[in-house]
Parts: sequence; C-alpha cells; structure tokens
Amino acid sequence: MAYEDVYRRSVEQPEAFWGEEAKAIHWHKPPQRILDYSNPPFRRWFVGGQTNLCYNAVDRHLAARSDQLALVAISTETGVTREISYAELYREVNAFAAILKRLDVGRGDRVVIYMPNMAEAVFAMLACARIGAVHSVVFGGFAAHNLALRIDDAQPKLLIAADAGMRGGKVIAYKPLVDQACAESVSPPPKVLIVSRGLDAAQPKVPGRDEDYAALRAEVGDAEVAVEWLESNEPSYLLYTSGTTGKPKGVQRDVGGYAVALALSMRTIFDCAPGQAMFSTSDVGWAVGHSYNVYGPLIGGCTSLLYEGLPINPDAGIWWSLCEKYGVRTMFSSPTAIRVLKKHDVGFIRNHDLSKLQYLFLAGEPLDEPTANWIHDALGKPIIDNYWQTETGWPALSLLPGLDMKPVKFGSPGFPNLGYRMKIIDEATGEEVPANTKGVLVIQPPLPPGCMTTIWNDDERFISSYFSHFKELLYSSLDWAIRDEDGYTFILGRTDDVINVAGHRLGTREIEESVSGYGGVAEAAVIGVYDELKGQVPVVFATLRQNTDEPHERVAAANGMRQVVEQSLGAVARPARVYIVNALPKTRSGKLLRRSLQALAQGTDPGDLSTLDDPNSLEEVKKALLRGP
Ligand code: ATP
Ligand code: MG
Repeated sequence: MAYEDVYRRSVEQPEAFWGEEAKAIHWHKPPQRILDYSNPPFRRWFVGGQTNLCYNAVDRHLAARSDQLALVAISTETGVTREISYAELYREVNAFAAILKRLDVGRGDRVVIYMPNMAEAVFAMLACARIGAVHSVVFGGFAAHNLALRIDDAQPKLLIAADAGMRGGKVIAYKPLVDQACAESVSPPPKVLIVSRGLDAAQPKVPGRDEDYAALRAEVGDAEVAVEWLESNEPSYLLYTSGTTGKPKGVQRDVGGYAVALALSMRTIFDCAPGQAMFSTSDVGWAVGHSYNVYGPLIGGCTSLLYEGLPINPDAGIWWSLCEKYGVRTMFSSPTAIRVLKKHDVGFIRNHDLSKLQYLFLAGEPLDEPTANWIHDALGKPIIDNYWQTETGWPALSLLPGLDMKPVKFGSPGFPNLGYRMKIIDEATGEEVPANTKGVLVIQPPLPPGCMTTIWNDDERFISSYFSHFKELLYSSLDWAIRDEDGYTFILGRTDDVINVAGHRLGTREIEESVSGYGGVAEAAVIGVYDELKGQVPVVFATLRQNTDEPHERVAAANGMRQVVEQSLGAVARPARVYIVNALPKTRSGKLLRRSLQALAQGTDPGDLSTLDDPNSLEEVKKALLRGP
C-alpha cells in the first residue's frame, strides 16, 4: 500500500483511522469515543474503552501460541539463557502479580523497578500492568542518588530490585545502592522486594521492609490473578527521559493508545509478524526497552530477545550469533553500539548465517554516514534510522518497510509515521520553512496514540516543556531538522547544539558527520566554545578506532579531521582545536553530553551530571584540555 495514501488518511481522518487500528488489540469494553481533544494540549484516545497491556501481551496469545517462545533472556554476564514460552510467561507473570498483591500493591499504585536486563524485570513490568499498578523502571546502571530522585518523584508503594547486576564480568551490588537511595529519599517505599541472582551474598535485610522474591514465588505457586480492566487513559507507566539537556522528566503513558500504537508499529514499521523474532539490544530501563523488548513484540505475538552483557563479550560476534540461533527477523540497536562494533573486525558479523534477518533499525542519536555505511556493508541489509523520543514512545520518523519500503537515504530517518502531523518551522516566525531549509521540528497536536499523556504530577511542566515555544500550540522537544525535495527529513541536532561562528550558524551534527568521515575516527563530539573574535569556534573531541598515545599520530589524525571538515563544509567550520581522547562523556543511554564538554572547555560549571555514564570520561577530557590540542 502506498505510504502517502495511508499517511494522508491517518492525519486527515484520525478518528476513522485510529478507530480501525484499535481493532488490532483486545478490548474488554470497546471505546465509546476515539478522540477527545476538548482540553488542548491534553488529549484522550479511545475514551471509555477498557483494556489491559498484560492481557494483550500475554493472555491473548495463549490459545494460538502457548508453546511459542515469548521471551529469550540471554546473559553473557552470568552465562544464563532463559527461553520462556507464552505459557510460562503467563505463569510467571501471574505469580508475580500475586506477590504484588500480597505486598499490598493495587491499581494506581506506583512500583519502581531497578533491575538489569533479566527475565524477572519483564515479569515485574507485566505483573504491574496486569493489576493496574504504574511501573517506573529505573535503569540499573544509575547510582543511588538518581534512584532516590525518581523514588521521590514517583512515590512508589514498592521497590523491586535485583540484588546485583554485572558488567564486563564485574559484579555491581545493587542492594547497597537501594539502601542508600531509601535513606536519601524523602518518601522511601514501605516495601522492597529483592530478586536475588546469587551474585551478591552479603545482603543484610531491613526487617519489616525487605522481602525475598524466591521465597514469595515458592509460596504463591501457580496462583492466577484476574486482569484489572483499565480505562484507556489511565496511566500504565512512568519513564524518565535521558537527561541530556537537564533534569529528567517523568513521562507518563496511557494504556489503550499505547497498545494500539505499538501494534501498528510492529506491523508497518518493524514488519515483524506473530511468530517472528525481534531483537532489541536496548536496556529495559529505556523507552526502546519498554516498547520493543517488552510491550511491542509481545502484543504482536512475536519472540522478544533480551540481552544482558557487552556487545563484544565473549567476542564482537555475540549479537549476530543470537540472530542466527533464534532466526531474528528485525533487529533494533543504537548508533553508539554500532560504533563500538566498528572497532572490531567485520568478520564477526559476516561469519553468521543471517538469512532470516531483514532489517537493522537504529535510533537514539544521529546516525553518521560512515557508521551507517560500515554496518550496511557488513550486513548487506537495510539499515533503518528512526527518530523518536522517550516522550513519543514509538518512532515519529522512519521508513515503513511493513507498509511501503522507500529507498534508504543515509543521514535521514525518513518520513513521519502514521498519525504524526509534523512540520519544520522557522524558529523566529513559526512559519513552515520551504524544502531544504533548516528549522525546528514540531508535532501538531493532538499527539497520536502512544505518545506521552503528561509529565507525572506536573501538567504545567508538560505544557511549559513541550508546548510553549511558539505562538501556535505546537509540540516540540527542540530538534533541528530539514526536509529535502523528496520529503525525507534529516535531523540536525538539538537547537541548543548550534554553533555561531562569526555569524554563521553551524549544526554540531554537520561537523561531527564530517569529522567522522576521516578514516581513523571512531566517534566525535563537536561543541561551540566562546571566542573573542568570532563569537564561537568549533572544537572537536574525538576517539580513534585505534587508541594511541603517540603524539605524532594524534597530530596527524587531528590534521586529517580539520582537512575533511574544511573540504566538505568550508573554512568557517574548520575546528579550532581537536582533542583526541580515549572516551567521550555520555549519558547512561549512550548520548553524547555535549553540554558538559562545552562547560569543561569553557571552564564553567558542567551542571547536572547525574546521568553521566562513566566518570572517567570526564577525567579524560580534563586531562586532554590540560595537555592541549
Ligand atoms: P532529555 O529530554 O532529558 O534532555 P533526551 O532528549 O536525550 O534527554 P531521549 O528521549 O532519550 O532523551 O532522546 C530523544 C532525543 O534523541 C531526540 O529528541 C533527538 O535529539 C535524539 N534522537 C533520537 N533518535 C534520533 C535519530 N534517529 N537521529 C537523530 N537524533 C535522534
Ligand atoms: Mg529530550
């Protein structure tokens, strides 16, 4: 079917379109109204309809696919792989739901989940959904302080935590972090449920608060727990944004709209039918993990792979051997992860039978052309860049191979997805810009199903963060974009990532793209640094594919980068300084923290570093700044 026709219907007759799409999921009671937009910018989809995410992800498939694998949880850290059928998933989720009820958790109560990529994290999420509790998964790599902040915002009745995680073979005890977070929190949860993996033996229990999952699991046995039917617009979960630009926002999602949007995306975007396998390499703590490790593939009746471990352990072929073993059709990862693989031999990819694999989707950060080319050459499959946000819950821009596969254009995540009315507007006038002109990407409300409903407990911040940038009521998370004459959208970075060199406005993304074109570069971050003469000058921080401490090799690489930028973008974009480092500062979700780099380079306060992944990377940068370019 032609994308253009379906898209037009989705935005011109949204109620007819989404009313049709709603039939893809099970409703206990059908919606009475498809859309209520009487209180902009808030909107309610499928009003009066009653449904349940867990029922749609699990119960509904039992008749046709109880023996099919629902979830494969692979850990190359613990060496354990669990293959879980839909029947077993039903048993485990019901047992977990029974435990939640014993711990006095009910409809509307919040539950914070602090666990790595392990099967029980998925059971816990689905169990919450089953009984109408609102989960808030906090990425297991976050420290106690981050956890405490989220606890205080969500005010959970229960915290579910693993005793420990593991990264690169090193055990990371979670329990002390949990205790610390509870001590720091103003409203600590009355109960903490510990899922022990046998990794961290020393576990002093807090009497009256701590509960042991294994013990309770044995007690509840094969308990079954009735599904709580929720009105479509009740909250299903909270999830905090990555915090790249500042304090994370508690994104709130609904039930019915989310289920319908995911079902649509599995068909039209990911082209993954019931019975087929999808492998997303995300952590369950991120939006991609929620939508495409848990709810999307399971609502779609697919097999979902969940991976705990490094992409290069035991070697850089691990992901591809899993694709081969489980016949993965659709794979989803991030540019950051592919840049890690790029440092290794392509043989690790080519050595596998990937005949079932159809697509590699990448999202979360700009996909630079050299990385896209490298992975495309290695795989020989379409590499599909897709753009979204924690807020949208599913891709806003992508190609739609399940509907109408358009040619890939490197550097572009493609077209607006069904239901997304998007425009690119002039920052100052708010007018739509012509083709090939840079502007701010906005979504015209009402937001489509699946997107956030509000910021938890803070409707005002929802409006001020997303809807107050322009005269017209428009949603924006402030990314720059440009649309070419064929309708392909290109993302040029965040509006605060623009450098003004002597009156020329340059996107950091363009310069990074150009720097990455220099062969030896693994990854580059470009920032604007204050300059007396020009206002700002571009400064590059780069990692090389082969680390080196040899000064002359660094100088050669730096000169090479300057040259390619000058050739492709002109002298005005030529980096004033190039620092070669062994690691770049990133958020825990793999996004470059350009604002911290900029602060360090200008000698100002780096601001909120709570989402920083590796503190060493900042030390690296400080050392490089002292050493000089
Ligand atoms: P915060 O909103 O807390 O500052 P964040 O914006 O990094 O953090 P996420 O919701 O995880 O939080 O990321 C969404 C952002 O990631 C987008 O607004 C965009 O800037 C970037 N992004 C996502 N996908 C792509 C892509 N395919 N190409 C370019 N940029 C992308
Ligand atoms: Mg954002």
